[in-house]
Amino acid sequence: MCWYCRSCCRAQSGWDISKAIKKDVVRTFESLDDVADFYQIDALELHKTITSYNHAVETKHDTAFNKPIVRSATPITTPPYYVMRLWPKVHYTMGGVAINTKSQVLDFKGNIIEGLFAAGEVVGGVHGASRLGSCAITDCIVFGRIAGNQLAQNK
Ligand SMILES: Cc1cc2nc3c(=O)[nH]c(=O)nc-3n(C[C@H](O)[C@H](O)[C@H](O)COP(=O)(O)OP(=O)(O)OC[C@H]3O[C@@H](n4cnc5c(N)ncnc54)[C@H](O)[C@@H]3O)c2cc1C
Repeated sequence: MCWYCRSCCRAQSGWDISKAIKKDVVRTFESLDDVADFYQIDALELHKTITSYNHAVETKHDTAFNKPIVRSATPITTPPYYVMRLWPKVHYTMGGVAINTKSQVLDFKGNIIEGLFAAGEVVGGVHGASRLGSCAITDCIVFGRIAGNQLAQNK
């Protein structure tokens, strides 16, 4: 049904994922066995995982990962099942070499290492303890330009 009406996903979760379904980013299945079959994963393990998740939702306590259970979470019990593949990816690295405001790399004692400049992912400390989302490119461009200007002036 949802392949055609493209609205039951919204009715259940409040989210409109119809575009994701249309592009096959999110896929729709009528049973967990179909999910396991499509993604070639162990069906028994999938059933166990869903049971464990449902228990966590019902008890509001996730013993497996200690993940906070949001108030709106509901057990996964009835089809259609909306599924998408997810996997972890490094988004940004907070660590790296120290630089000053001229993009010059500093040694352990905070002294300038002459002729060495850095910007972007290779640099640490620019954002403090936690990066404000979406500001990495700004950091790369600003310090990259400064490094370039410094190098041009040194020529
Ligand atoms: C999924 C994702 C989403 C993101 N979204 C945002 C966002 O919305 N806003 C934002 O601001 N930031 C975002 N970021 C972070 C941002 O994209 C990166 O911080 C930024 O692109 C880093 O740029 P960079 O030039 O420092 O490093 P990189 O882009 O990693 O460039 C390093 C380059 O060096 C090359 N290289 C590595 N080793 C060698 C070698 N030995 N010899 C020659 N070349 C080498 C690599 O191939 C690469 O091309 C996102 C990152 C990810 C992964």
